Amino acid sequence: MAQRFRSLLLFGPPGVGKGTQGTLLGHIPGLFHLATGDMFRSLDARSELGRQFHEYSAKGLLVPDELTIRLWEQYVRQRIADGRFNPASDLLVLDGIPRSARQAVAMDTHLDVLGILHLVCEDQEEMIRRMKGRAEKEGRHDDADEAVIRRRFQVYQAETAPVLRHYDDALVHDIVATGLPIEVLHRILDVVVPVATRQCCNPLA
Ligand code: AMP
Repeated sequence: MAQRFRSLLLFGPPGVGKGTQGTLLGHIPGLFHLATGDMFRSLDARSELGRQFHEYSAKGLLVPDELTIRLWEQYVRQRIADGRFNPASDLLVLDGIPRSARQAVAMDTHLDVLGILHLVCEDQEEMIRRMKGRAEKEGRHDDADEAVIRRRFQVYQAETAPVLRHYDDALVHDIVATGLPIEVLHRILDVVVPVATRQCCNPLA
């Protein structure tokens, strides 16, 4: 893929609400939401890749970088080919990638990052409660076990949080992730609307 996609990154620890906000944003024309967790979960569980994903996610670990990037490239290519993502008109809202320093470097060839929506919640116990709730509702094996959830937080602190340093500070927007989803969405839109507006063609220009 030769082009770099104009992108917004949803960033933050597990259970902070990236998936909820990403799904909401993905309903807005001109924004295309892509979550790597969903990408992995859509794999056939009996396939070799599906088995590998399960092996890592069931332990609360990240899938190896090379495999993740390769799969992501393939997934994006398919979304362009089937017409769901139009890079000429859509901003890509990425959820769950990059999640390591090596992924951030690899993604530089694919992304023109316009902003980072850093969802912040200091209350880890609240995030754990949310994750257990969604594990029941969505049948997510990786979030059903509290030891796995705690491992995911450790992996986030060790491998993912440092990814923020890869980007210019001016791109990073801290967003309070507590309150109703609609309140969080409101804070996110305060950042996204000016970015999206700047990207649009001005018919009077
Ligand atoms: P999520 O739905 O974002 O919480 O992701 C679920 C699981 O998918 C994670 O615990 C990882 O095992 C895997 N995963 C998702 N995104 C990535 C990524 N960028 N790099 C490596 N593993 C990932």
